[in-house]
Amino acid sequence: MESIQFEKHPIRTKIIATVGPACASKEMLRSLAVAGVDVFRLNFAHGKHKWLEQIVLRIREISTELNQPIGILGDLAGPKIRLGILPDEGVECKTGQRFIFVKNEVPFDGVHLSSTYEHLIDDLQPGDKVLLADGTVGMVVIEKPDDSQVICEVDRPGIIRSKQGINLPGVKLQTPALTEKDKEDLAWGLKQKLNFFGLSFVRSAKDLIELRELINKSNPGYKPKLIAKIEKPEAIQEMDAITKVCDCVMIARGDLGVETDISWLPVLQKQLIRHCNERRIPVITATQMLDSMQYQQFPTRAEANDVANAVLDGSDAVMLSGETAVGKYPVETVEMMSRIILHSEDSVPRRTNIDWKTDSKSRALVVTEAVTLGACTVADQLDADLMVLCTKSGRTALAISRQRSQIPLLALSDSANTARTMCLYWGVMPVHTSIVKQPPEEILDFAINWGTGNGLLKPGSRIVLISDSKWGAEGHDVMMVHVVS
Ligand code: PEP
Repeated sequence: MESIQFEKHPIRTKIIATVGPACASKEMLRSLAVAGVDVFRLNFAHGKHKWLEQIVLRIREISTELNQPIGILGDLAGPKIRLGILPDEGVECKTGQRFIFVKNEVPFDGVHLSSTYEHLIDDLQPGDKVLLADGTVGMVVIEKPDDSQVICEVDRPGIIRSKQGINLPGVKLQTPALTEKDKEDLAWGLKQKLNFFGLSFVRSAKDLIELRELINKSNPGYKPKLIAKIEKPEAIQEMDAITKVCDCVMIARGDLGVETDISWLPVLQKQLIRHCNERRIPVITATQMLDSMQYQQFPTRAEANDVANAVLDGSDAVMLSGETAVGKYPVETVEMMSRIILHSEDSVPRRTNIDWKTDSKSRALVVTEAVTLGACTVADQLDADLMVLCTKSGRTALAISRQRSQIPLLALSDSANTARTMCLYWGVMPVHTSIVKQPPEEILDFAINWGTGNGLLKPGSRIVLISDSKWGAEGHDVMMVHVVS
């Protein structure tokens, strides 16, 4: 069995890679996992269930072969609005040219355009912006002669093609949070026991509550984590409520950069990361991080800076989309991302001023948070090489992750789902093992073997073990220091 030898230390910021035709083979998925992918994203906007099922199977096989948990995220497409069918060569939109959006699907005649959204005409009013082709083409509604059509004028010229996305920034849409297709994708994803579900185009906390209720109703036998994809201005206004009901946030810069003025995006990204860090919700920075590596083997300086800054600002994970899904160099891109992270994250500030009482709802959690705070302080003080934790739900691992200690955390769990979920937690190295049920001495032996095998421990290394006095009790209440002999 292969074991991954860390170059200097394991990278702590997690990497999510989107699966697509460029990396769908077992060999490629395996190479990506070895290069540093922690979580694979299945984008339900592309790919049929039959194909995705093979991908899940391959990822699970690779995980077993590498003896390394790998998380899987199912990304629900949400109510994305798309253009109807256009000629293969696309349609050129010139400044000042007028197009008419109509309710029903029509063959393109040079003027009339249709969309996949039945209420498009109802929701648009004169003055509204209609952005197409990832915002590269812009129109403004100039007239609504009746309930069946709106006349738009091009103010940002370019080419539009079949099925490209339509963004309507600032327009209040009647679309439901979850489409029928989302519900089918969710049911499929729950059957596959995917660890995370991302919800696209979240507008309010209500959308996530609806998703959670749907999951609870289908009683899947495990608790997947919910990721709120922030890509609409309405969601930004609602961040306080949203972060109360989701497990994780994704800054989905693709659509966010269309729905908001792109010049605001850098500051918005920093504000969103800070917001999540303060509420201790894991946050993913996504889209176009190493975009040029879709076509070339080396990123631009700006892209290298972008990855490093996302890490330094406090992202728990960074995500690749087209780079791994359809790019020419998926493995090289992940290796590059790993190297940029490795050389950036020593400067991630340690969080010592955590107000750990604020979200502790139960006594067990108060104990856990206090013990983990102490454990990180002790590990820092002793310049320990490894922290070790046994966890059932992963909650304690997250409590440690949030403190951004530079000392890696080996998180052991006998739940495969917990181990896979922890793949997203900054600084956490999850291992799925039943050793957690054994006495502390055996757990320690296991950790020493694992740490030595992976090049993290040698004689004289210090380990801080966090445990509970009685496995099965709620909360972690024991901390132990051990020197490797
Ligand atoms: C995004 O818009 O940045 C994003 C991650 O969503 P998707 O890739 O589903 O468009």
